[in-house]
Amino acid sequence: MSPQIDEKLETMYQEVLKRNPGEVEFHQAVAEVLESLNPVISKHPEYLERKIIERICEPERQIIFRVPWQDDNGQVHINRGFRVEFNSALGPYKGGLRFHPSVYLGIIKFLGFEQIFKNSLTGMPIGGGKGGSDFDPKGKSDDEIMRFCQSFMTELYRHLGEHTDVPAGDIGVGGREIGYMFGQYKRITNRWEAGVLTGKGLKWGGSLVRPEATGYGATFFINEALKVRKESFAGKTCLVSGSGNVAIYTVEKIHQLGGKCIACSDSNGVIVHEKGLDVELIKQLKEVERRRIKDYADYHKDAKYIANGNIWDIPCQVAMPSATQNEINGKDAKTLVKNGCIAVGEGANMPTTPEGIKVFLDAKIAYGPGKAANAGGVATSALEMQQNAQRDSWSFDFTEKKLEGIMVGIHQLCHDTAEEYGAPGNYVVGANIAGFIKVADAMVAHGLV
Ligand code: NDP
Repeated sequence: MSPQIDEKLETMYQEVLKRNPGEVEFHQAVAEVLESLNPVISKHPEYLERKIIERICEPERQIIFRVPWQDDNGQVHINRGFRVEFNSALGPYKGGLRFHPSVYLGIIKFLGFEQIFKNSLTGMPIGGGKGGSDFDPKGKSDDEIMRFCQSFMTELYRHLGEHTDVPAGDIGVGGREIGYMFGQYKRITNRWEAGVLTGKGLKWGGSLVRPEATGYGATFFINEALKVRKESFAGKTCLVSGSGNVAIYTVEKIHQLGGKCIACSDSNGVIVHEKGLDVELIKQLKEVERRRIKDYADYHKDAKYIANGNIWDIPCQVAMPSATQNEINGKDAKTLVKNGCIAVGEGANMPTTPEGIKVFLDAKIAYGPGKAANAGGVATSALEMQQNAQRDSWSFDFTEKKLEGIMVGIHQLCHDTAEEYGAPGNYVVGANIAGFIKVADAMVAHGLV
């Protein structure tokens, strides 16, 4: 960790390394939070006395299970399922499920740990958790996806409940997968319990704006950060990595706010369209036809596909990483800053390496870390839970206004907390401290549990 880190925090960090060997993404997420907490522990000796930091770094419960399923040819496959119920100080565990071959315990723990502070920042009564599987949904038929989801839920259901643990989507898990999992949960429990999963279809308990929420929310956050600098999206050239759920709605909202996104990507390559991306085409290719982003170039002859390209080499003023963890390294960050980038908003979780974050902070650009900037997704999941509890469904405009209000509030909280703790403009410090204090105070109030 950094040389300025307090000795007590360094000892706690070393303990995390020892207790969680090989989980490098989890170590990275913990280091990033602990580095911000020096000024907090000197003001709050009770946190040290009650061992709040050590407790926050240890999940309340970790569930690992076998997921057997059969493909369309009758072949049997075995995957591993995870649910890490990290912290319930503020509410039931809440956080998405990721299906991707890179998933292992360290990825789920980093995501679950981040989720604790993100959920706290939303101001809503939700704790932190995350789950998923090393199952690779790419190239699978609908029936295979359904069989996998059913097998996954056949174990997971016993740990869930609207007051206990409420999963949602993440990489590889969207409306289709949530549907299959909800169906299996309902079948096993004989309960139509809408509040047990979020990201549901609109006709059966879902919320308008949930699909758009993470991308729209990240864009609202950066819009606020730009306003602080007397800037706006209008006329700005933007890059959005990925071409999944978060990326698509980030592009859409940037365009609505007057910016121009000229590139997006997937794990195989980059699409560059200087005229501005055609978001309706991306929706059709990715959401409806489930194709690769490469195919975009078949429809727009003036767009270019760069196989294995690095999107961050393209000059822009605003960058919104919306694919996966550690996709911007120190070198990419330097390139972005050199090319005139003035704002980075993280739609993805932990997309910037520690070296990259340092470059952004040293350059004093507006850098919105994921746990603040992408909190709109989970906040709208909480709005979905509210509607489910009231047996109600709100209009698009009403829900979007609520989302915008929440993101404006999160931005303000991070901004003001950073100032209060002597780091004006540093949203990393603001988000970590503001997110942490609320959880820590609740843990102190709940006693040693
Ligand atoms: P999707 O599965 O819809 O899309 C993921 C996109 O990222 C795809 O374009 C995918 O390309 C690309 N991608 C994934 N893994 C890699 C990789 N290892 N290398 C390069 N590209 C990759 O997921 P989401 O849009 O839901 O999630 C994107 C990010 O946003 C994740 O970090 C997630 O944790 C975060 N997030 C999502 C929220 C949500 O509400 N969905 C909420 C908050 C954060 P390919 O198809 O080639 O794999």
